[in-house]
Amino acid sequence: MSTRTLRPETAEIISYNPATGEEIGRAPLNTPEEVRSAVGRARAAQPAWASLSFRDRAHIVLQARKIVLAELDEIGKLISRETGKPAAEALSMEIVPGLDLMHYFARHTARLLQPNRIDIGQYGFMGRSSQVIYKPLGVIGIISPWNFPWATPLAEVVMALMAGNAVVLKPSELTPLTAMKIGEVFQRAQLPKGLLEIVTGDGATGAALTDVGPEAGLGKIMFTGSVATGKRVAAAAAKHLMPTVLELGGKDPMIVLEDANLQSAARAAIWGAFCNAGQACASVERCYVHESIATRFIELVVKETLALKQDNPAEKEVDVGAMSNERQLQIVEEHISDALGRGARVLTGGKRLKTFGGWFHEPTVVTNVDHSMDLMRDETFGPVLPIMTFKTDDEAIKLANDSIYGLTASIWTGNIARGRRLAEQIEAGTVMVNEVVYTHAIAQTPWGGVKQSGYGRTHGRLGLLELVSPQHIHVNRLPFVPDAWWFRYSTGAGLLFRSLAKRFTTGSILQSSLLLPQMIKRWRERRD
Ligand code: NAD
Repeated sequence: MSTRTLRPETAEIISYNPATGEEIGRAPLNTPEEVRSAVGRARAAQPAWASLSFRDRAHIVLQARKIVLAELDEIGKLISRETGKPAAEALSMEIVPGLDLMHYFARHTARLLQPNRIDIGQYGFMGRSSQVIYKPLGVIGIISPWNFPWATPLAEVVMALMAGNAVVLKPSELTPLTAMKIGEVFQRAQLPKGLLEIVTGDGATGAALTDVGPEAGLGKIMFTGSVATGKRVAAAAAKHLMPTVLELGGKDPMIVLEDANLQSAARAAIWGAFCNAGQACASVERCYVHESIATRFIELVVKETLALKQDNPAEKEVDVGAMSNERQLQIVEEHISDALGRGARVLTGGKRLKTFGGWFHEPTVVTNVDHSMDLMRDETFGPVLPIMTFKTDDEAIKLANDSIYGLTASIWTGNIARGRRLAEQIEAGTVMVNEVVYTHAIAQTPWGGVKQSGYGRTHGRLGLLELVSPQHIHVNRLPFVPDAWWFRYSTGAGLLFRSLAKRFTTGSILQSSLLLPQMIKRWRERRD
């Protein structure tokens, strides 16, 4: 079977179907000069775009949305062929959330970025007012991974464009065709030239983008990918003092309390661990179940896992397809082998599947695990569900937080108040009670992690605010009255400043009103 290789001699990258090994297309291997030119074109196009109304920008986004809707199946098949996931999953986990997000930000960006007045307390009584407006950053560089090659970059492209920016998108070298389809959709939607530039290539192309810097018009890098690359991106951006958002890996825990609905929790666990062949940053990577219900829960998990259909994703009604690349498959094998060497037990699955000719790994359930194992510490990013028991809530929280990562987590319980209480104790960007994985699909809610899972947010208003520069505009409506704190620092001024310290800083209008005689005296002093 072929492997995905770069062919610098022809300046192309080749995209292969990971389920079959067949070549499905090629994309240019863009050079650093080409990346720089793309940023230049984006920079030149951005001011005219920023001068359009939100309504005009929304019109283009909604046109693009119509094109996606008309080509759902074709796009779903392309994503499936390039990643190895079932087309149904491409539809449910990538295209549906993308359409929803396009609609949401087309309709609501104007409101979300509305200038807002700030209550400045007693300064307001001095004829002052303050307002924050949100200006586009210019050109946003988006660097994206292969696991959700449509949903991840599309969301950031739409939000960046709606905020008035231009975009240069550098997709994963494993999934360039899906990103090129995003470009084609916007081109057909009549997005003015230069506003969405797609540069394809490997890490060197991504590095070239991080090296462009704000002097050349790049306002921010939105990076989604591994922790190791995220650190490289942050270091490169720091040289230019260029801000970044880093959406990195996860080792997301699922806690099943003794009062949970076991059937639902078991189904959620296997979907959370095996959807996208386990290659979601928010996959359930560790499951902690209360010891009193562990036997029954594990039985249900194994039963549900055995009922899954794994096959070439081109076939109908497939639940689990191929993994997207061989390196990731090897990591899964290494983690399972390390765990087995330390006493773990595989209850079902456990091996690479050679039947279909692509990179398949069986959905795997493992018990007898502990935190000495790579499987419980490092990101596995494959279809493996390790299950461990706990005795008390405190122990469950301690285990969940015993990780360098903090992207998402979930708690399963029949008692919502207890779920919320425990959720607050977990170190993660998102904690779900009785849900797993899916909140990336909610356009309105923020997405992002803590600890080594990165910083900054995408999605929701918090994500939109990452794509703009807030500007504070302060107005003094009484310019003929000199400020009390201006020169000259006379003896009277010193006395007034003391009084300001004692009274004005209390925030009390009554206390401040006692300053009036001193203020008037100071004003008179300087009028002469
Ligand atoms: P990766 O870090 O290998 O690559 C991500 C992107 O960075 C690719 O486009 C790649 O070409 C580019 N790149 C590589 N070297 C670069 C460099 N030096 N400078 C700039 N760009 C460079 O990650 P991956 O294997 O494509 O994706 C899997 C990882 O992504 C997993 O760790 C997963 O958890 C993470 N991920 C996180 C989220 C999230 O929202 N937090 C979402 C999806 C995936």
